Amino acid sequence: MNRVEGSIEARVSHEVDRWLGWLPRWRPGTHRARVRLCTRCFGSPILAAAGLDVDVPHPVQHAFSMRMKGIIDAAVDDYTARNLPMLHTEIRLAEERKARRPYRAGEGLDPEFRGLDLDPEPAPDQPFLFTLSGLEADAAAEANEPAPRPFTFEEKEALRDEVRLADEFAKQLGRRICVELAQHRDRIGHAVGVYVEPLVEELLADLDRELDAPGWPG
Ligand SMILES: [Zn+2]
Repeated sequence: MNRVEGSIEARVSHEVDRWLGWLPRWRPGTHRARVRLCTRCFGSPILAAAGLDVDVPHPVQHAFSMRMKGIIDAAVDDYTARNLPMLHTEIRLAEERKARRPYRAGEGLDPEFRGLDLDPEPAPDQPFLFTLSGLEADAAAEANEPAPRPFTFEEKEALRDEVRLADEFAKQLGRRICVELAQHRDRIGHAVGVYVEPLVEELLADLDRELDAPGWPG
């Protein structure tokens, strides 16, 4: 289980530090272009609170989103382990099933790469949590394993309540992170000015030259 150390505020500050440490290594075009909008980043209140919502390339945004998501995930895991026994059990079982799979796409990646080009979550108003159907689908995906015992109506209701509580907890955390990010906007903005904007301008200038080059109409 994830251990949650320090206050949310301290963890936000720490993850902003780490993102700032990564930023100088970012280069445009080192990631595959996305065709779909990223549901983690598009319209994200966390990116807006950090001042990263406009004119910032998606990989730079995404690295930040995933770091903040990591804070939320760890805190929700901790909260679930302590307060939501049914959900905790279901998640543990799902993790055990996953651990038996030979290949697990998207796991063990650095935060900058997590969640890219994997299936985005379908509900934009629930950006942080799994769903019941997700847990069930996960179970059903295991071809070589016996299907888990189906839930009774009461169990389903109880589990749904716990999912709702976990979701509510995640949303509260998201709001706290947004408030805290106001303290970091300046250094985030400064770093974007130093490490991102010049590279983007260079890229646009290159593109301009290419478009002016012979062979392009008009
Ligand atoms: Zn993204």
